[in-house]
Amino acid sequence: MTPAEYVDYIVLTADEIEKNGEYVTALDAKTGDGDHWVNLNAGFQKLISIQDELKSLELAPMLRKIGMTLMSAIGGSSGVLYGSGYIAASKALNGVETLDIRTLGTLLWAELDAIMERGKAQPGWKTMIDSLYEGLESYQAALESERDERAVMEALKEGARQGRDHTREMEAVKGRASYQTNKGVGELDPGAVTMCIQLECLSDYVINNKL
Ligand code: ADP
Ligand code: MG
Repeated sequence: MTPAEYVDYIVLTADEIEKNGEYVTALDAKTGDGDHWVNLNAGFQKLISIQDELKSLELAPMLRKIGMTLMSAIGGSSGVLYGSGYIAASKALNGVETLDIRTLGTLLWAELDAIMERGKAQPGWKTMIDSLYEGLESYQAALESERDERAVMEALKEGARQGRDHTREMEAVKGRASYQTNKGVGELDPGAVTMCIQLECLSDYVINNKL
């Protein structure tokens, strides 16, 4: 996957996030302050508007630019978390020219580590981390058992969906849902839903265009 193709994936993801506005906002109105989708969508629309500039960059500077843009355009907890995630991914891929099945993992693991560190949060705490973490665990298991690339990308998607679904029964430890008396139990975490959308799009993009 070239840097320009990564930008194509970002554009498809932005469209998918755009379509899920009512659903995500209704969820966030139950456990958060209702602004998660508006903010995230603003961030991804901003990326669409600078797609030509992004496409002119090499991989690491492109990821850094995505991070800086998301950090300033999203705001709220998720702006800082996505920003830190992409900036860490940029550092981890310094000097790498294109993404393959393994370096895609390097990107995502770096993003996960940075989000966990920045948010001081762990898997199982009912956040965006849960989709990414379970997706990556499942990706890694498929990679290590030498499954073909399609199966590895399917594993990423399926794991992310399970992580998202597991947030329904989790008690929130961080973030606004943790201020609720029931800790958000019974509802999906909106940040886990939007993280899952991104990983589904990534998996679909690779399977449909690169394999
Ligand atoms: P807020 O309203 O808390 O500023 P957003 O509305 O931008 O944040 O995003 C809310 C989402 O951010 C939550 O659904 C959750 O997935 C994620 N989140 C909140 N706090 C954290 C944290 N400390 N670590 C990881 N993810 C978090
Ligand atoms: Mg919010």
